[in-house]
Amino acid sequence: MVFNQLLHLDDLHRWRACERQFWLHRQPSREAGALAFVPGAQADADESAEAAVVHGPAVQAALRASFPGATTISAPTTPHEWVGAVRQTLDCLDSDQEVAEGWAIFGACLTSDDKAQVRIDVMSLGEHGLRLFKVRHATVGDEADVDAMALWLHVASRCGLRVQSVGLLLVDTDFIYPGHNCYAGLFREVDLAPVLGSRPVAAWLSAMRRAERGPQPAATPGAHCGQGDQGGENGGSGGSGGSGQSSQRGGCNFADACQACAKPTPEPLPDRLASLNIVGRELAAELRQEGHLDLRSVAPQALSNARHRRAVRAIQQDAPVLEPAVAALFRDLPYPRYSLRFDTIGFAVPVWAGTRPYQTLPFQWTCDVQSEAGHCVQHGFLADAKGDPRRAFAVTLLQVLGSSGPVFACNAGFERSRIRELALQFDDLAPALEDVLTRIVDLFQIARDSTACRRPRRRRLLRARCKLA
Ligand code: SF4
Repeated sequence: MVFNQLLHLDDLHRWRACERQFWLHRQPSREAGALAFVPGAQADADESAEAAVVHGPAVQAALRASFPGATTISAPTTPHEWVGAVRQTLDCLDSDQEVAEGWAIFGACLTSDDKAQVRIDVMSLGEHGLRLFKVRHATVGDEADVDAMALWLHVASRCGLRVQSVGLLLVDTDFIYPGHNCYAGLFREVDLAPVLGSRPVAAWLSAMRRAERGPQPAATPGAHCGQGDQGGENGGSGGSGGSGQSSQRGGCNFADACQACAKPTPEPLPDRLASLNIVGRELAAELRQEGHLDLRSVAPQALSNARHRRAVRAIQQDAPVLEPAVAALFRDLPYPRYSLRFDTIGFAVPVWAGTRPYQTLPFQWTCDVQSEAGHCVQHGFLADAKGDPRRAFAVTLLQVLGSSGPVFACNAGFERSRIRELALQFDDLAPALEDVLTRIVDLFQIARDSTACRRPRRRRLLRARCKLA
């Protein structure tokens, strides 16, 4: 078996986005003539790192709650392992043993006779055949999911498997985690069968083969180039055929080469940090019409809005602008002064009882306390891994904030909302937390009205303002 002849999900995504991107990605393995490509390996690594932070640490437990009798097939990391994974999948399907409650295969690997290979997130059993699921730790699917499911269905059918349904497992935001690893109800099934018929996968695979064997396609730089390398997307519990090749979410890997070959003498590019959009889309469109590429060429006095003039001045002098009136605003504020910042997380799979998917949960605060003499003492709280940190978060915060003094927040709406939520959660702390609300000074509003900086470093600038005060 020659592995680099096999087509996989990332190939399909790339080919659908840009034939040249697909062709370029297929070249190294073809030229090497070696078994260089192993789908799934890098994708799984990306997935585990990403899942730990964004999806939450209970991803596998949540999936197991829906399929308690599942067998997990590890993501192959070598061609040899891939062969083993396919064999293991077929063994599970061929088994004479009675099918257990919640039977499923996580990461089922299949290779079709027309040389496409897939790794299916979840394969379970229905009354009339197999049920294939793509796990998305998201609330909606997209076109790439439909492409993936169409490819999975094609390969499974070519392998002689009877498929009853194909669909997505999406996160149900109404789910409230009761604790004790009870995740039944977290996922909702979305049937994709009605939309798969429009995907001619067999014809796509043939076209991909022709494209791969053909000459290098011409560069066609456009919006699709900035949408990230189409490979390496995963989103599933067990991976779905990532490429194992580097993947840049910020744009196509070949963007520089394509720009160069499509435009031998590139036009001047706008300075991203001086973008016309800083003054709003409408005004930006007018300025663009007048021939401006970015705000560097715009005369400040030509703008009627004081905030826009400040922004242009900051960009053109390459230094922050601070209106003298700001000093007066702070002069009368008493000491001690508190500069507060919260950090939060919203797990797709909730880990603390009583919380929902994506609920914004505070886990860290930092607070600089400044005395009248100018001394500044830093305080902070960071959740440990021992359970819901919200009560400890609130108690330690109240201890540091005391009962008087202005509390600066960089974007106070955010901090206010979290404090209100904590007050609702903990009745006994509510009066003290509500007192804090009355002391908050919104630095963002002050900065918006009186300052401007060249770079979009809002928080950093505001913290600087806070220390200046
Ligand atoms: S930069 Fe654009 S045109 Fe070039 S390969 Fe990538 S997606 Fe295709």
